[in-house]
Amino acid sequence: MNYSDVFREIASELDEIEDRGQLAAYIPELSHVDPSQFGACLITTKNEQFFLGDYKTTFSIQSIFKVLALALARGLRENHLWDRVGVEPSGSPFNSLVQLEYEQGIPRNPLINAGALVVCDVLLTHLKNPRQEFIEFVRDLAGDQDIDYCSRVADSERRTGHKNAAMVNLIKAYGNITNDVDRVLDFYCDLCSIEMSCNQLAQAFLFQAANGINPLNGREVVSVGRSKRINAIMQLCGFYDEAGEFAFKVGLPGKSGVGGGIIAVHPGKYSIAVWSPRLNAKGNSFKGMKFLELFTTRTASSIF
Ligand code: GLU
Repeated sequence: MNYSDVFREIASELDEIEDRGQLAAYIPELSHVDPSQFGACLITTKNEQFFLGDYKTTFSIQSIFKVLALALARGLRENHLWDRVGVEPSGSPFNSLVQLEYEQGIPRNPLINAGALVVCDVLLTHLKNPRQEFIEFVRDLAGDQDIDYCSRVADSERRTGHKNAAMVNLIKAYGNITNDVDRVLDFYCDLCSIEMSCNQLAQAFLFQAANGINPLNGREVVSVGRSKRINAIMQLCGFYDEAGEFAFKVGLPGKSGVGGGIIAVHPGKYSIAVWSPRLNAKGNSFKGMKFLELFTTRTASSIF
């Protein structure tokens, strides 16, 4: 199927809609982004590529990293990850502290901040050079050595991420963080700050549409079983307290980030990344959500 015409059609419809979203100004560095930018890129498992707008412009991937961290952590042996983090949707905002106390420091799932902090802790314990190994993992997935951290964004979040600091301390108090809390927080902020374009993201996530194999080099990133589980977690937990809405309207496993990016995959068919910086009240890209809703509806290509 040639998706280019659908892309263009939807883009001009979105131009008519007022963007009611707001930039993620709680991380000051993210408020300097030009909010009018919009990009989209779809790559099929047969390597056909379709793009639109600012698809080559890099942006802060923020929480989208959580899926890649999970993929890397699942590759580590003996980490007992699922004793330390659940797989249930949270129905709460990304940075909620409320459930954590009720559930005695075991985060609901690995895609809320609390769960991602535990995954970061696992990576810190098992990798020799966590920061370097993580970025190399992402570069290999995307087939692009230019991908990097952004120290401005990471520092900006370090200075203002008081809720994440509270969270990691609370989890530590329950004995579910093994490393020093500052080290975990530092690593988390670095991973959030990675900058990628829609093009790079669609490429990096293609393994989740291809049973865990990176189509670029034919190498297994995760096993078929793990790939299935990661997609299930994205489907149920990728959009915080808007996960049901995303399943209802878009119908694909996906993950958002407060940089305004969204990645979604159609197992067996394609991965698609969209980016528009203004966020709705739940912290997900306002126009990105609309674009994907129109796209899967027009092309009848949701998984449902
Ligand atoms: N760095 C963000 C935070 O911890 C990630 C949240 C997101 O992208 O949804 O607040």
